[in-house]
Amino acid sequence: MLDKARQLLQTYFGYDSFREGQETVINYVLDENSSLCVMPTGGGKSLCYQIPALMLEGTTIVISPLISLMKDQVDTLIQAGIPATFINSTLTAEEVRQTMEEVQNGQYRLLYIAPERLESPNFLNQLKKVKVPLIAVDEAHCISQWGHDFRPSYRAIHRLKEVFTEQPTVLALTATATPAVRDDICRLLQIQEDNTVITGFARSNLAFSVVLGQDKNKFLKEFIKKNASEVGIIYAATRKTVDLLYDLLNKAGIETAKYHAGLPESFRNSEQERFLTDEAQVMVATNAFGMGIDKSNVRYVIHYQLPKNMESYYQEAGRAGRDGLPSECVVLYASQDVQTQRFLIDQAMDRDRIPQELEKLQGMVDYCHTENCLQQFIVTYFGEPDAPKCGRCGNCTDSREVQDVTKEVQMVLSCVVRMGQRFGKTMTAQVLTGSENKKVIDFGFTKLSTYGILKGKSLKEVSGLMEFMIAEGFLSVKHGSLPTIYVSDAGKEVLLGNKRVERKGVTVTKQIAKSDP
Ligand code: ADP
Repeated sequence: MLDKARQLLQTYFGYDSFREGQETVINYVLDENSSLCVMPTGGGKSLCYQIPALMLEGTTIVISPLISLMKDQVDTLIQAGIPATFINSTLTAEEVRQTMEEVQNGQYRLLYIAPERLESPNFLNQLKKVKVPLIAVDEAHCISQWGHDFRPSYRAIHRLKEVFTEQPTVLALTATATPAVRDDICRLLQIQEDNTVITGFARSNLAFSVVLGQDKNKFLKEFIKKNASEVGIIYAATRKTVDLLYDLLNKAGIETAKYHAGLPESFRNSEQERFLTDEAQVMVATNAFGMGIDKSNVRYVIHYQLPKNMESYYQEAGRAGRDGLPSECVVLYASQDVQTQRFLIDQAMDRDRIPQELEKLQGMVDYCHTENCLQQFIVTYFGEPDAPKCGRCGNCTDSREVQDVTKEVQMVLSCVVRMGQRFGKTMTAQVLTGSENKKVIDFGFTKLSTYGILKGKSLKEVSGLMEFMIAEGFLSVKHGSLPTIYVSDAGKEVLLGNKRVERKGVTVTKQIAKSDP
Protein backbone atom coordinates (compact mmCIF):
# COMPACT_ATOMS: atom_id res chain seq x y z
CA MET A 1 0.00 0.00 0.00
CA LEU A 2 2.78 2.40 0.87
CA ASP A 3 4.45 1.73 -2.46
CA LYS A 4 1.25 2.86 -4.08
CA ALA A 5 1.20 5.95 -1.84
CA ARG A 6 4.78 6.80 -2.82
CA GLN A 7 3.90 6.40 -6.47
CA LEU A 8 0.97 8.80 -6.09
CA LEU A 9 3.21 11.27 -4.26
CA GLN A 10 5.47 11.28 -7.28
CA THR A 11 2.76 11.30 -9.95
CA TYR A 12 0.43 13.95 -8.54
CA PHE A 13 2.67 16.09 -6.38
CA GLY A 14 6.11 15.55 -7.94
CA TYR A 15 7.88 14.68 -4.65
CA ASP A 16 10.29 11.77 -4.28
CA SER A 17 9.90 10.94 -0.64
CA PHE A 18 7.62 11.49 2.33
CA ARG A 19 8.52 13.87 5.09
CA GLU A 20 8.86 12.76 8.68
CA GLY A 21 5.54 11.52 10.02
CA GLN A 22 3.59 11.56 6.76
CA GLU A 23 4.01 7.86 6.07
CA THR A 24 2.98 6.90 9.59
CA VAL A 25 -0.18 8.98 9.39
CA ILE A 26 -1.08 7.66 5.95
CA ASN A 27 -0.59 4.14 7.25
CA TYR A 28 -3.00 4.74 10.11
CA VAL A 29 -5.61 6.14 7.75
CA LEU A 30 -5.30 3.31 5.25
CA ASP A 31 -5.67 0.82 8.10
CA GLU A 32 -8.91 2.62 9.03
CA ASN A 33 -7.51 3.81 12.34
CA SER A 34 -8.72 7.24 13.34
CA SER A 35 -5.70 9.33 14.28
CA LEU A 36 -4.32 12.71 15.24
CA CYS A 37 -1.51 14.34 13.29
CA VAL A 38 0.38 17.19 14.96
CA MET A 39 2.90 18.92 12.72
CA PRO A 40 4.07 22.52 12.58
CA THR A 41 2.73 24.86 9.91
CA GLY A 42 4.33 24.00 6.60
CA GLY A 43 5.12 20.49 7.85
CA GLY A 44 3.01 18.87 5.15
CA LYS A 45 -0.23 17.91 6.83
CA SER A 46 -2.40 18.21 3.71
CA LEU A 47 -0.77 15.29 1.95
CA CYS A 48 -1.65 13.06 4.90
CA TYR A 49 -5.28 13.07 3.76
CA GLN A 50 -4.88 13.95 0.09
CA ILE A 51 -2.90 10.81 -0.72
CA PRO A 52 -5.37 8.49 1.09
CA ALA A 53 -8.21 10.34 -0.64
CA LEU A 54 -6.72 9.16 -3.92
CA MET A 55 -6.53 5.57 -2.73
CA LEU A 56 -9.82 5.13 -0.89
CA GLU A 57 -13.08 4.49 -2.61
CA GLY A 58 -15.51 7.44 -2.28
CA THR A 59 -15.21 11.11 -1.39
CA THR A 60 -13.03 12.33 1.47
CA ILE A 61 -14.57 15.21 3.40
CA VAL A 62 -12.18 17.92 4.60
CA ILE A 63 -13.45 20.24 7.31
CA SER A 64 -11.58 23.53 7.36
CA PRO A 65 -12.38 26.86 9.00
CA LEU A 66 -10.27 28.82 6.56
CA ILE A 67 -12.82 29.75 3.91
CA SER A 68 -10.40 32.11 2.20
CA LEU A 69 -7.91 29.29 1.61
CA MET A 70 -10.41 26.66 0.53
CA LYS A 71 -10.65 27.79 -3.05
CA ASP A 72 -6.85 27.97 -3.41
CA GLN A 73 -6.47 24.46 -2.05
CA VAL A 74 -9.11 23.10 -4.37
CA ASP A 75 -7.61 24.93 -7.36
CA THR A 76 -4.19 23.45 -6.57
CA LEU A 77 -5.66 19.95 -6.42
CA ILE A 78 -7.51 20.42 -9.70
CA GLN A 79 -4.30 21.62 -11.34
CA ALA A 80 -2.60 18.46 -10.13
CA GLY A 81 -5.39 16.47 -11.81
CA ILE A 82 -7.27 15.55 -8.64
CA PRO A 83 -11.04 16.13 -8.78
CA ALA A 84 -11.94 18.27 -5.75
CA THR A 85 -14.53 20.86 -4.82
CA PHE A 86 -15.75 22.94 -1.88
CA ILE A 87 -18.97 24.12 -0.32
CA ASN A 88 -18.99 27.23 1.84
CA SER A 89 -20.85 30.50 2.33
CA THR A 90 -19.26 32.11 -0.74
CA LEU A 91 -21.42 29.89 -3.01
CA THR A 92 -24.99 30.71 -4.03
CA ALA A 93 -27.79 28.32 -3.13
CA GLU A 94 -27.88 27.15 -6.74
CA GLU A 95 -24.14 26.50 -6.78
CA VAL A 96 -24.43 24.50 -3.56
CA ARG A 97 -27.27 22.45 -5.02
CA GLN A 98 -25.33 21.70 -8.18
CA THR A 99 -22.12 20.85 -6.33
CA MET A 100 -24.02 18.51 -4.01
CA GLU A 101 -25.51 16.73 -7.00
CA GLU A 102 -22.04 16.22 -8.45
CA VAL A 103 -20.77 15.00 -5.08
CA GLN A 104 -23.62 12.50 -4.91
CA ASN A 105 -22.67 11.30 -8.37
CA GLY A 106 -19.22 10.51 -7.02
CA GLN A 107 -17.43 13.03 -9.20
CA TYR A 108 -14.96 14.18 -6.53
CA ARG A 109 -12.13 12.66 -4.53
CA LEU A 110 -12.23 15.49 -2.00
CA LEU A 111 -14.96 17.78 -0.73
CA TYR A 112 -13.91 20.75 1.44
CA ILE A 113 -16.53 22.19 3.76
CA ALA A 114 -16.68 24.87 6.44
CA PRO A 115 -17.72 23.54 9.86
CA GLU A 116 -20.87 25.68 9.91
CA ARG A 117 -22.29 23.45 7.18
CA LEU A 118 -22.59 20.64 9.71
CA GLU A 119 -25.31 22.56 11.49
CA SER A 120 -27.61 22.23 8.48
CA PRO A 121 -29.79 19.07 8.76
CA ASN A 122 -30.58 19.38 5.07
CA PHE A 123 -26.90 19.22 4.16
CA LEU A 124 -26.30 16.24 6.42
CA ASN A 125 -29.28 14.49 4.91
CA GLN A 126 -27.94 14.93 1.41
CA LEU A 127 -24.60 13.43 2.47
CA LYS A 128 -26.35 10.15 3.29
CA LYS A 129 -26.15 9.24 -0.37
CA VAL A 130 -22.39 9.78 -0.52
CA LYS A 131 -19.74 7.19 0.24
CA VAL A 132 -17.29 8.83 2.65
CA PRO A 133 -14.27 6.75 3.68
CA LEU A 134 -12.41 9.53 5.49
CA ILE A 135 -13.19 12.73 7.33
CA ALA A 136 -10.16 15.03 7.68
CA VAL A 137 -10.53 17.66 10.36
CA ASP A 138 -8.07 20.46 9.63
CA GLU A 139 -7.14 22.97 12.37
CA ALA A 140 -8.53 20.40 14.79
CA HIS A 141 -7.57 22.48 17.87
CA CYS A 142 -10.67 24.59 17.05
CA ILE A 143 -12.71 21.83 18.67
CA SER A 144 -11.13 22.46 22.08
CA GLN A 145 -11.87 25.27 24.45
CA TRP A 146 -8.25 24.96 25.50
CA GLY A 147 -7.11 25.80 21.99
CA HIS A 148 -6.46 29.38 20.94
CA ASP A 149 -9.24 29.46 18.39
CA PHE A 150 -12.27 27.62 19.72
CA ARG A 151 -15.13 27.26 17.19
CA PRO A 152 -18.39 25.94 18.62
CA SER A 153 -19.43 24.62 15.20
CA TYR A 154 -16.53 22.12 15.38
CA ARG A 155 -18.49 20.34 18.07
CA ALA A 156 -21.04 19.40 15.39
CA ILE A 157 -18.54 17.06 13.75
CA HIS A 158 -19.97 14.12 15.69
CA ARG A 159 -23.30 14.73 13.86
CA LEU A 160 -21.49 14.17 10.59
CA LYS A 161 -20.22 10.82 11.83
CA GLU A 162 -23.75 9.77 12.74
CA VAL A 163 -24.93 10.31 9.16
CA PHE A 164 -23.16 7.29 7.74
CA THR A 165 -23.99 3.67 8.32
CA GLU A 166 -20.41 2.72 7.56
CA GLN A 167 -18.19 4.68 9.96
CA PRO A 168 -15.62 6.84 8.15
CA THR A 169 -12.08 7.03 9.51
CA VAL A 170 -11.31 10.38 11.14
CA LEU A 171 -7.98 12.18 10.75
CA ALA A 172 -7.55 15.26 12.93
CA LEU A 173 -4.73 17.66 11.99
CA THR A 174 -3.29 20.62 13.82
CA ALA A 175 -0.09 22.61 14.32
CA THR A 176 -0.75 23.64 17.88
CA ALA A 177 -1.55 21.01 20.38
CA THR A 178 -0.60 21.11 23.98
CA PRO A 179 -1.38 17.90 25.87
CA ALA A 180 -4.71 19.37 27.10
CA VAL A 181 -5.82 20.21 23.55
CA ARG A 182 -4.74 16.81 22.30
CA ASP A 183 -6.76 15.09 24.98
CA ASP A 184 -9.81 17.11 23.98
CA ILE A 185 -9.41 16.36 20.28
CA CYS A 186 -9.02 12.63 20.92
CA ARG A 187 -11.96 12.49 23.32
CA LEU A 188 -14.36 14.51 21.17
CA LEU A 189 -13.47 12.80 17.90
CA GLN A 190 -13.11 9.35 19.44
CA ILE A 191 -9.51 8.88 18.47
CA GLN A 192 -7.34 6.48 20.45
CA GLU A 193 -4.58 8.54 22.02
CA ASP A 194 -1.97 6.04 20.91
CA ASN A 195 -2.80 6.90 17.32
CA THR A 196 -1.17 10.31 17.64
CA VAL A 197 1.73 11.30 15.42
CA ILE A 198 3.73 14.34 16.50
CA THR A 199 6.70 15.53 14.51
CA GLY A 200 9.12 18.17 13.55
CA PHE A 201 8.53 21.03 15.95
CA ALA A 202 12.22 21.76 16.36
CA ARG A 203 13.65 24.37 14.01
CA SER A 204 17.28 23.51 13.55
CA ASN A 205 18.35 26.92 12.26
CA LEU A 206 16.92 28.97 15.12
CA ALA A 207 18.96 29.92 18.19
CA PHE A 208 16.70 30.88 21.09
CA SER A 209 17.78 33.00 24.00
CA VAL A 210 16.42 34.97 26.91
CA VAL A 211 17.91 38.19 28.20
CA LEU A 212 17.14 38.92 31.83
CA GLY A 213 17.68 42.13 33.75
CA GLN A 214 19.33 44.31 31.12
CA ASP A 215 18.63 47.79 29.82
CA LYS A 216 16.34 46.73 26.99
CA ASN A 217 16.66 49.83 24.84
CA LYS A 218 20.42 49.75 25.01
CA PHE A 219 20.43 46.06 24.21
CA LEU A 220 18.12 46.61 21.25
CA LYS A 221 20.13 49.40 19.67
CA GLU A 222 23.38 47.51 20.08
CA PHE A 223 21.90 44.29 18.75
CA ILE A 224 20.47 45.97 15.65
CA LYS A 225 23.68 47.86 14.95
CA LYS A 226 25.72 44.70 15.35
CA ASN A 227 23.44 43.05 12.78
CA ALA A 228 23.30 46.09 10.52
CA SER A 229 23.15 44.12 7.30
CA GLU A 230 20.23 41.98 8.44
CA VAL A 231 16.49 42.54 8.79
CA GLY A 232 14.45 41.63 11.84
CA ILE A 233 11.14 41.98 13.66
CA ILE A 234 10.65 43.40 17.14
CA TYR A 235 7.41 42.48 18.84
CA ALA A 236 6.00 44.55 21.69
CA ALA A 237 2.91 43.83 23.77
CA THR A 238 1.15 47.18 23.39
CA ARG A 239 0.60 49.79 20.67
CA LYS A 240 2.08 52.44 22.91
CA THR A 241 5.35 50.55 23.25
CA VAL A 242 5.47 50.04 19.48
CA ASP A 243 5.16 53.81 18.99
CA LEU A 244 7.86 54.51 21.56
CA LEU A 245 10.30 52.00 20.06
CA TYR A 246 9.61 53.28 16.57
CA ASP A 247 10.67 56.78 17.65
CA LEU A 248 13.63 55.50 19.65
CA LEU A 249 15.08 53.44 16.81
CA ASN A 250 14.46 55.98 14.07
CA LYS A 251 16.15 58.61 16.21
CA ALA A 252 19.11 56.26 16.60
CA GLY A 253 19.42 56.28 12.80
CA ILE A 254 17.93 52.81 12.27
CA GLU A 255 15.51 52.58 9.35
CA THR A 256 12.43 51.33 11.20
CA ALA A 257 8.84 50.59 10.16
CA LYS A 258 5.90 50.05 12.51
CA TYR A 259 2.65 48.14 12.48
CA HIS A 260 -0.27 47.88 14.87
CA ALA A 261 -4.05 47.81 14.64
CA GLY A 262 -4.39 51.42 15.80
CA LEU A 263 -2.70 52.82 12.68
CA PRO A 264 -4.60 53.79 9.50
CA GLU A 265 -4.73 50.94 7.01
CA SER A 266 -2.92 52.83 4.23
CA PHE A 267 -0.05 53.63 6.59
CA ARG A 268 0.12 50.03 7.82
CA ASN A 269 0.25 48.76 4.26
CA SER A 270 3.02 51.11 3.20
CA GLU A 271 5.03 50.29 6.34
CA GLN A 272 4.61 46.59 5.64
CA GLU A 273 5.75 47.15 2.08
CA ARG A 274 8.86 49.04 3.26
CA PHE A 275 9.75 46.08 5.42
CA LEU A 276 9.01 43.42 2.80
CA THR A 277 11.27 45.18 0.28
CA ASP A 278 14.11 45.55 2.84
CA GLU A 279 13.81 49.33 2.67
CA ALA A 280 13.20 49.29 6.41
CA GLN A 281 15.69 47.20 8.33
CA VAL A 282 13.46 46.65 11.33
CA MET A 283 9.73 46.18 11.83
CA VAL A 284 8.40 47.08 15.27
CA ALA A 285 4.94 45.64 15.73
CA THR A 286 2.27 44.18 17.96
CA ASN A 287 1.08 40.65 17.30
CA ALA A 288 -1.25 42.13 14.65
CA PHE A 289 1.71 41.88 12.27
CA GLY A 290 2.85 38.74 10.59
CA MET A 291 -0.15 36.59 9.68
CA GLY A 292 0.18 35.57 6.07
CA ILE A 293 3.46 37.44 5.66
CA ASP A 294 6.03 35.35 3.88
CA LYS A 295 9.38 37.04 4.21
CA SER A 296 12.09 34.45 4.13
CA ASN A 297 15.18 36.47 5.15
CA VAL A 298 14.12 37.65 8.62
CA ARG A 299 17.34 37.04 10.59
CA TYR A 300 16.03 37.77 14.05
CA VAL A 301 12.80 38.14 15.99
CA ILE A 302 13.12 39.97 19.29
CA HIS A 303 10.29 40.05 21.82
CA TYR A 304 10.73 43.33 23.64
CA GLN A 305 8.07 42.17 26.07
CA LEU A 306 6.96 38.74 27.12
CA PRO A 307 4.36 37.23 24.76
CA LYS A 308 1.18 35.89 26.32
CA ASN A 309 1.85 32.21 25.78
CA MET A 310 4.10 29.67 24.12
CA GLU A 311 1.76 29.19 21.16
CA SER A 312 1.96 32.87 20.23
CA TYR A 313 5.67 32.98 20.97
CA TYR A 314 6.61 30.07 18.75
CA GLN A 315 4.44 31.31 15.93
CA GLU A 316 5.94 34.80 16.06
CA ALA A 317 9.53 33.71 16.69
CA GLY A 318 9.10 31.15 13.89
CA ARG A 319 8.94 34.00 11.37
CA ALA A 320 12.73 34.14 11.64
CA GLY A 321 14.81 32.06 9.27
CA ARG A 322 12.15 30.75 6.92
CA ASP A 323 14.96 30.37 4.38
CA GLY A 324 16.67 27.85 6.65
CA LEU A 325 19.70 30.06 7.45
CA PRO A 326 20.82 30.57 11.06
CA SER A 327 18.63 33.12 12.82
CA GLU A 328 18.05 34.35 16.35
CA CYS A 329 14.96 34.54 18.54
CA VAL A 330 15.39 36.59 21.69
CA VAL A 331 13.01 37.37 24.54
CA LEU A 332 13.86 40.41 26.65
CA TYR A 333 12.44 39.57 30.05
CA ALA A 334 11.42 41.97 32.79
CA SER A 335 9.08 40.93 35.56
CA GLN A 336 6.81 43.96 35.08
CA ASP A 337 5.96 42.63 31.60
CA VAL A 338 4.26 39.70 33.28
CA GLN A 339 1.97 42.27 34.90
CA THR A 340 1.27 43.85 31.50
CA GLN A 341 0.23 40.48 30.09
CA ARG A 342 -1.90 39.74 33.13
CA PHE A 343 -3.64 43.04 32.60
CA LEU A 344 -4.21 42.32 28.89
CA ILE A 345 -5.57 38.86 29.66
CA ASP A 346 -7.85 40.33 32.29
CA GLN A 347 -9.17 42.91 29.83
CA ALA A 348 -9.65 40.72 26.81
CA MET A 349 -10.86 37.36 28.01
CA ASP A 350 -14.10 35.69 29.00
CA ARG A 351 -13.98 35.42 32.77
CA ASP A 352 -14.00 31.63 32.76
CA ARG A 353 -11.01 31.43 30.42
CA ILE A 354 -8.76 33.58 32.55
CA PRO A 355 -7.28 30.84 34.78
CA GLN A 356 -6.16 28.77 31.81
CA GLU A 357 -4.70 31.82 30.07
CA LEU A 358 -2.77 32.67 33.23
CA GLU A 359 -1.48 29.13 33.33
CA LYS A 360 -0.25 29.51 29.74
CA LEU A 361 1.39 32.81 30.64
CA GLN A 362 3.17 30.98 33.46
CA GLY A 363 4.53 28.58 30.82
CA MET A 364 6.10 31.56 29.09
CA VAL A 365 7.57 32.87 32.37
CA ASP A 366 8.97 29.39 33.00
CA TYR A 367 10.58 29.43 29.56
CA CYS A 368 12.40 32.62 30.55
CA HIS A 369 13.76 31.06 33.73
CA THR A 370 14.63 27.52 32.80
CA GLU A 371 18.27 26.60 32.54
CA ASN A 372 17.57 23.66 30.28
CA CYS A 373 17.71 23.75 26.48
CA LEU A 374 15.18 26.32 25.25
CA GLN A 375 14.37 24.49 22.01
CA GLN A 376 13.78 21.35 24.04
CA PHE A 377 11.51 23.30 26.41
CA ILE A 378 9.44 24.49 23.44
CA VAL A 379 9.00 21.16 21.70
CA THR A 380 8.21 19.47 25.01
CA TYR A 381 5.51 22.09 25.55
CA PHE A 382 4.05 21.12 22.18
CA GLY A 383 4.02 17.51 23.21
CA GLU A 384 7.07 16.20 21.35
CA PRO A 385 8.94 14.23 23.97
CA ASP A 386 12.59 13.14 23.96
CA ALA A 387 13.92 15.85 21.65
CA PRO A 388 17.70 16.19 21.92
CA LYS A 389 19.33 19.37 23.24
CA CYS A 390 19.76 21.90 20.43
CA GLY A 391 23.32 22.98 21.27
CA ARG A 392 22.60 26.46 19.93
CA CYS A 393 20.36 28.24 22.41
CA GLY A 394 21.34 30.67 25.13
CA ASN A 395 21.23 27.91 27.73
CA CYS A 396 23.10 25.25 25.73
CA THR A 397 25.89 27.76 25.03
CA ASP A 398 25.93 29.22 28.54
CA SER A 399 29.39 28.40 29.84
CA ARG A 400 29.02 29.92 33.30
CA GLU A 401 29.92 27.64 36.13
CA VAL A 402 27.28 25.48 37.74
CA GLN A 403 26.69 26.15 41.44
CA ASP A 404 25.00 24.02 44.05
CA VAL A 405 22.02 26.03 45.34
CA THR A 406 20.32 23.21 47.24
CA LYS A 407 20.57 25.02 50.54
CA GLU A 408 18.98 28.26 49.34
CA VAL A 409 16.26 26.31 47.53
CA GLN A 410 15.51 24.41 50.74
CA MET A 411 15.28 27.69 52.66
CA VAL A 412 12.74 29.06 50.18
CA LEU A 413 10.69 25.84 50.20
CA SER A 414 10.70 25.71 53.94
CA CYS A 415 9.51 29.32 54.13
CA VAL A 416 6.70 28.64 51.65
CA VAL A 417 5.55 25.72 53.81
CA ARG A 418 5.71 27.79 57.00
CA MET A 419 3.64 30.54 55.39
CA GLY A 420 0.89 28.00 54.72
CA GLN A 421 1.40 27.75 50.91
CA ARG A 422 -1.20 30.39 50.24
CA PHE A 423 0.81 33.52 49.45
CA GLY A 424 2.46 34.90 46.33
CA LYS A 425 6.06 35.17 45.28
CA THR A 426 6.60 38.77 46.35
CA MET A 427 5.32 38.28 49.89
CA THR A 428 7.45 35.15 50.28
CA ALA A 429 10.53 36.97 49.01
CA GLN A 430 9.81 39.78 51.48
CA VAL A 431 9.65 37.33 54.37
CA LEU A 432 12.86 35.62 53.27
CA THR A 433 14.75 38.90 53.01
CA GLY A 434 13.41 40.14 56.35
CA SER A 435 11.24 42.98 55.07
CA GLU A 436 9.43 45.11 57.63
CA ASN A 437 6.51 45.65 55.30
CA LYS A 438 3.22 46.15 57.18
CA LYS A 439 1.59 43.05 55.73
CA VAL A 440 4.56 40.89 56.72
CA ILE A 441 4.22 42.12 60.28
CA ASP A 442 0.40 41.91 60.34
CA PHE A 443 0.43 38.28 59.27
CA GLY A 444 2.92 37.53 62.04
CA PHE A 445 5.56 36.31 59.59
CA THR A 446 8.34 38.03 61.51
CA LYS A 447 8.01 35.21 64.03
CA LEU A 448 8.76 32.48 61.50
CA SER A 449 12.12 30.75 61.75
CA THR A 450 12.60 31.45 58.05
CA TYR A 451 12.03 35.20 58.44
CA GLY A 452 15.09 37.04 57.12
CA ILE A 453 16.90 33.77 56.43
CA LEU A 454 18.11 35.17 53.06
CA LYS A 455 18.80 38.66 54.39
CA GLY A 456 22.06 39.04 52.50
CA LYS A 457 20.24 38.89 49.15
CA SER A 458 18.16 41.54 47.43
CA LEU A 459 14.44 41.11 46.87
CA LYS A 460 15.16 40.87 43.14
CA GLU A 461 17.69 38.07 43.61
CA VAL A 462 15.31 36.05 45.76
CA SER A 463 12.45 36.62 43.27
CA GLY A 464 14.79 35.46 40.51
CA LEU A 465 15.65 32.33 42.49
CA MET A 466 11.96 31.61 43.02
CA GLU A 467 11.21 32.08 39.32
CA PHE A 468 13.99 29.61 38.57
CA MET A 469 12.44 27.19 41.10
CA ILE A 470 9.03 27.54 39.41
CA ALA A 471 10.55 27.01 35.97
CA GLU A 472 12.38 23.90 37.16
CA GLY A 473 9.24 22.59 38.85
CA PHE A 474 10.20 22.80 42.56
CA LEU A 475 7.47 25.34 43.21
CA SER A 476 4.07 25.40 41.52
CA VAL A 477 1.75 28.33 40.95
CA LYS A 478 -1.96 28.29 41.64
CA HIS A 479 -3.84 30.88 39.60
CA GLY A 480 -6.65 32.29 41.67
CA SER A 481 -7.59 35.96 41.87
CA LEU A 482 -3.97 36.38 42.96
CA PRO A 483 -1.33 33.78 42.12
CA THR A 484 -0.07 31.77 45.09
CA ILE A 485 2.81 29.33 45.29
CA TYR A 486 3.10 25.90 46.80
CA VAL A 487 5.71 23.16 47.04
CA SER A 488 5.52 20.57 44.25
CA ASP A 489 6.40 16.88 44.56
CA ALA A 490 9.85 17.60 43.13
CA GLY A 491 10.19 20.39 45.71
CA LYS A 492 9.33 17.97 48.51
CA GLU A 493 12.18 15.74 47.38
CA VAL A 494 14.58 18.68 47.75
CA LEU A 495 13.18 19.52 51.19
CA LEU A 496 13.68 15.91 52.26
CA GLY A 497 17.28 16.07 51.08
CA ASN A 498 16.73 13.47 48.36
CA LYS A 499 17.59 15.78 45.49
CA ARG A 500 20.28 18.38 44.86
CA VAL A 501 19.70 21.55 42.82
CA GLU A 502 22.24 23.20 40.56
CA ARG A 503 22.06 26.58 38.95
CA LYS A 504 24.33 28.37 36.53
CA GLY A 505 25.86 31.49 38.08
CA VAL A 506 23.77 33.64 40.34
CA THR A 507 24.03 36.82 38.35
CA VAL A 508 20.78 37.79 36.65
CA THR A 509 22.25 38.20 33.18
CA LYS A 510 22.29 35.46 30.61
CA GLN A 511 24.49 35.24 27.57
CA ILE A 512 23.02 35.57 24.16
CA ALA A 513 23.47 32.81 21.66
CA LYS A 514 25.71 33.57 18.73
CA SER A 515 24.29 33.14 15.25
CA ASP A 516 27.47 32.23 13.46
CA PRO A 517 26.63 30.45 10.24
P1 ADP B 1 0.67 22.29 6.54
O1 ADP B 1 -0.75 22.01 6.15
O2 ADP B 1 1.23 21.30 7.49
O3 ADP B 1 0.90 23.71 6.98
P2 ADP B 1 1.18 21.85 3.77
O4 ADP B 1 0.45 20.58 3.67
O5 ADP B 1 0.54 23.07 3.20
O6 ADP B 1 1.59 22.14 5.26
O7 ADP B 1 2.62 21.65 3.12
C1 ADP B 1 3.58 22.66 3.11
C2 ADP B 1 4.43 22.58 1.86
O8 ADP B 1 5.25 21.43 1.91
C3 ADP B 1 3.59 22.48 0.59
O9 ADP B 1 4.15 23.31 -0.38
C4 ADP B 1 3.71 21.02 0.24
O10 ADP B 1 3.55 20.81 -1.15
C5 ADP B 1 5.11 20.68 0.69
N1 ADP B 1 5.28 19.25 0.98
C6 ADP B 1 4.44 18.47 1.67
N2 ADP B 1 4.89 17.20 1.72
C7 ADP B 1 6.05 17.17 1.04
C8 ADP B 1 7.02 16.13 0.72
N3 ADP B 1 6.87 14.88 1.14
N4 ADP B 1 8.09 16.49 0.00
C9 ADP B 1 8.27 17.76 -0.41
N5 ADP B 1 7.40 18.76 -0.16
C10 ADP B 1 6.31 18.49 0.55
